[in-house]
Amino acid sequence: MSTHLASEISHEAALLAASGQWLKVLTDGSRELVLLVDAEGACQFVGGGPAAQVLLGFDGLELASRSVAELIHPDDEVRVRKAFRALAAAPGEMHTVEYRVRHRNASWVKVESTAVNRLDNPVIAAIVVHTREVTASEAPPSGQVHALTQLPDRAMFTASVSDAVARALAEPTYGFSVLMIELDKLRMLVGTYGQEIVDELVIEVGRRLSVVLKAHDTLAHVGSGEFGVLLDGLRDRVHASRVADKIQKALAARYRLGEHTITVAVIMGIATSERQYERAEHVLRDASLAASRARGPGSRRAVFQTQMRVEDSRYMQTLSGLYTALQSSQFRLHYQPIVSLVTGTLAGFEALIRWYHPEHGLIPPMSFIPIAEETGLIVPIGRWVLEEACAQMARWNELADGDRTLYMSVNLSTKQFVEENLPGLVEAAVSASGIDAAQLKLEITETAVLENLETAATMIRRIKASGVRVSLDDFGTGYSSFSYLHQLPYDTLKVDRSFVCRLEDGEDSSEIVHAIIALAHNLRMDVVAEGVETQRQADKLLKMGCEYAQGYHFAKPMSAEDGAELIVARPKW
Ligand code: C2E
Ligand code: MG
Ligand code: MG
Repeated sequence: MSTHLASEISHEAALLAASGQWLKVLTDGSRELVLLVDAEGACQFVGGGPAAQVLLGFDGLELASRSVAELIHPDDEVRVRKAFRALAAAPGEMHTVEYRVRHRNASWVKVESTAVNRLDNPVIAAIVVHTREVTASEAPPSGQVHALTQLPDRAMFTASVSDAVARALAEPTYGFSVLMIELDKLRMLVGTYGQEIVDELVIEVGRRLSVVLKAHDTLAHVGSGEFGVLLDGLRDRVHASRVADKIQKALAARYRLGEHTITVAVIMGIATSERQYERAEHVLRDASLAASRARGPGSRRAVFQTQMRVEDSRYMQTLSGLYTALQSSQFRLHYQPIVSLVTGTLAGFEALIRWYHPEHGLIPPMSFIPIAEETGLIVPIGRWVLEEACAQMARWNELADGDRTLYMSVNLSTKQFVEENLPGLVEAAVSASGIDAAQLKLEITETAVLENLETAATMIRRIKASGVRVSLDDFGTGYSSFSYLHQLPYDTLKVDRSFVCRLEDGEDSSEIVHAIIALAHNLRMDVVAEGVETQRQADKLLKMGCEYAQGYHFAKPMSAEDGAELIVARPKW
């Protein structure tokens, strides 16, 4: 592009430029990632074709919303920043740098960026950065040992895997497998036990791993709470899975650290040389991707499959779909009745979000809330939920002849809960809708509070100061539920469905639920049982002193109109 571009562009191009579309048109087919940044490095535009979008695993919107500098390898950052500053001060200049950036899967991608300073160009007024992956084989990074465990770090590990990749390409009979092992819920562990104990735990995990492995295998400490294992000579998933079994057994035994006895869950991803890799980075990337698939309920380990990459791109689609959904009102709230077990009457509703996708139909919250959380999009979505739920409560108030005892329960995600201005938002939503503050309840989960108990307690107090109430959602699914409960001033405890559905199994399950209810009452909380599906469960709960219940036995989540009918009909369950 010449500096005289402004005078050269045609009338049509000028129109496109005016509508902000021309950049997209220009870069749509590019195999390189094209970024326009200002003199401070803030991203104004991200372009590039499909090939460019997969370079870092982030899509354009995601990249635009985060600082690219954040993704640069710490060892390269100073050099890149320096080069950028020099370029930013020199209009018309061009500069090329090579450096490493973090892929969304946490592996490092070596890239080359060519940047041109077009700040003084009236049309572009930005620094244009073209970035491509460097595919030429690189000298293996030397790396170091990890300070905590004295095990090889990620760079050293990558170098070892590089050697294995090269050998597998050269010798048809040689093969290898790579395992990525992550301690689950690491941040929660730190929140509960403190960094020192968790450091000891990580050291002990490393020790146990080295006992299980053979001398010629490589064990590395590749990230906080993350280990990599190179199984030398094991070329197939059956053998690799057998070693994974042994590792899982070894790590599952209790850890005695100081006065604590801790058990931890690990998740594992496996990639094998069956796939004929050409680069170590790709092996690590696939093993990490497999590990991320092993999160959540069910098996705690997964072998990489191509399908996972497809799903990963589906993840990308969901992500960009979420932006559209928010802008074009594709979200709806459904409302599930909460019933008083004592009187059998309606006590309130829980607002539950639904996504009505124009092509895929109804998408349940668990398919998109985690992605919205990961990207921060949950904050604007959650704000919409809060305002819409309050507005709905206000509309229902009109049906209730001045009776304002019904309440609306709204789910908050962890990300929303730590937002400094949350109490302000909540107050604003209440007063804009005209409902009583006591008609709003916010549901938060243990995860939200465990990371920082003191901050959480302060936040709950600030919310409660305005008269809004707070529930602890899904109690029993999280970590060390009992020990900190008294420190947090909840109004309500919601017993998770997993306890309620086992109520008929026998004495033990009943005892646990009974104990939870007694504990809640001791701490002046009332109790809502979630997921009540049978009359027997409801009867048992009432006998144990549980005040409220919610579940398919009473009613499924319903539309606002059905909710209105229910309020008018005043059913007795
Ligand atoms: P949750 O807050 O624990 O909500 C209760 C979930 O249990 C709802 O699922 C509800 O439909 C389901 N449920 C209720 N009664 C029964 C029953 O008797 N049996 C069974 N099997 N399930 C029952 P849903 O609507 O799919 O929501 C799932 C989760 O998504 C919610 O769990 C909540 O954590 C999250 N969520 C929903 N809406 C929002 C929202 O607006 N913001 C945030 N941050 N999270 C939300
Ligand atoms: Mg809830
Ligand atoms: Mg719940």
